[in-house]
Amino acid sequence: MADRTRLAVIGGGWAGLAAAVEACQAGAEVTLFEMASAPGGRARTVSAGAHALDNGQHILIGAYSASLSLLRTLGVDPAMALLRLPLQLRYPEQAGLQLRAGHPVPSFALAVLRHAGWPWRARLSLLRHCTAWALRRFECPEALSVAELCMGLADEVRADLVWPLCVAALNTPAERASARVFLRVLRDALFSGPGSADLLLPRLGLSDLLAHPAAAWLSGHGARLRMSQRVEALHASDAGAWLVDGERFDAVVLACSSVEAARLTQDLAPGWSGLARALRFEPIVTVYLESPGSALPSPMLALREGPADPAQFAFDLGQLDPRRSGQFSLVVSGAAAWTARGLDACAAACLQQAQRQLRWASTPRLLRVLAEKRATFACSPGLARPGSAIAPGLYAAGDYVDGPYPATLEGAVRAGMAAARQALPRSASR
Ligand SMILES: Cc1cc2nc3c(=O)[nH]c(=O)nc-3n(C[C@H](O)[C@H](O)[C@H](O)COP(=O)(O)OP(=O)(O)OC[C@H]3O[C@@H](n4cnc5c(N)ncnc54)[C@H](O)[C@@H]3O)c2cc1C
Repeated sequence: MADRTRLAVIGGGWAGLAAAVEACQAGAEVTLFEMASAPGGRARTVSAGAHALDNGQHILIGAYSASLSLLRTLGVDPAMALLRLPLQLRYPEQAGLQLRAGHPVPSFALAVLRHAGWPWRARLSLLRHCTAWALRRFECPEALSVAELCMGLADEVRADLVWPLCVAALNTPAERASARVFLRVLRDALFSGPGSADLLLPRLGLSDLLAHPAAAWLSGHGARLRMSQRVEALHASDAGAWLVDGERFDAVVLACSSVEAARLTQDLAPGWSGLARALRFEPIVTVYLESPGSALPSPMLALREGPADPAQFAFDLGQLDPRRSGQFSLVVSGAAAWTARGLDACAAACLQQAQRQLRWASTPRLLRVLAEKRATFACSPGLARPGSAIAPGLYAAGDYVDGPYPATLEGAVRAGMAAARQALPRSASR
């Protein structure tokens, strides 16, 4: 044990867990510090028992290769744990865009041509725009917003497709969202091979999907998990080593939130810390409803958002897990305007929206409202995100770290794996 690299991972969300697993596989001696009593971070189950609810409804897509590979490493079979559906944006009153299984590019083109709700000029203009984006390799100027990128598209296409996709993927409304990041997500969804655009909906609670299997795997591979331990201080020690609350480590992966990472590095690396501190956030509100005997026409439906209608999506949890039959979640992404009005007002508006836009076998009632004020960073045009390297032997991991993705599970997992690889010498034995 004595000559293995001693690595501290600070933070046990998906980024920290991915970093810890990667480092264990490379032979390091890993200690993971997590201030909460359980791992999982923002993607965790928040209550137990019959009404165990996730901190928010999460969706993965087929292109999330690093997350899927991590699940397999942990012994979680993605085919069992996730419901795979070809990409669809179905509305209660409209079949919407529905891709078929197979390669996403022809399937997307066909789905657009078949879209009965859009006039022909709208369908053709969307295909022309997509072709132009592909010819430019999905690159565009840094300063462009999604709203500006899509100015030439028909109103129906923007309202039915672009706005909901943008707020679902970037958690930032189109007029404030980075076109460059949006195009990268589109590129990966359409061009990472068959199934890459598929929606993957967790059948398990989020903690059972990743956090619990990861904790068990790490314990089984000799990692030390220090739950309920908030790291207060990080200092440089002698010979390139680091002190985490006074305990010596050869290297550190900082996988806590950007706010905490900025605090821990403010004296060590003021420039990096300033970039992390400058990030702004977008909230997400998740409203859980109960309506015994009810079912939606598909596990996930897009909803019509409007001044009195906060939610963009509804999920039928019973179609993901039969034990949750009669439970539903409504998701309000980019929810700043609604959190400003107060959670009670948002929940009441969601309930009314659900009653107006969806069919119910019994009157739906509110089960629980969850709001995450710092759900993701605001993915705005020209945003400068802090990189992974902070100082020799000190690396950041997290969904906010500079990379191709917006704040997503995949961004977090990729950042975690990359930070662990950077933090360790080629062989983790010293
Ligand atoms: C409501 C909601 C819905 C979402 N929906 C989706 C979705 O559909 N698809 C998708 O891909 N992504 C989604 N996301 C985003 C996704 O959850 C995040 O991108 C991902 O969980 C971030 O993981 P992370 O490890 O980078 O950060 P976190 O999960 O925030 O983990 C950081 C961890 O560090 C710990 N910590 C902080 N400070 C310290 C300290 N000083 N010492 C020790 N521990 C510390 C925290 O307790 C936390 O556990 C959603 C997020 C929310 C909130």
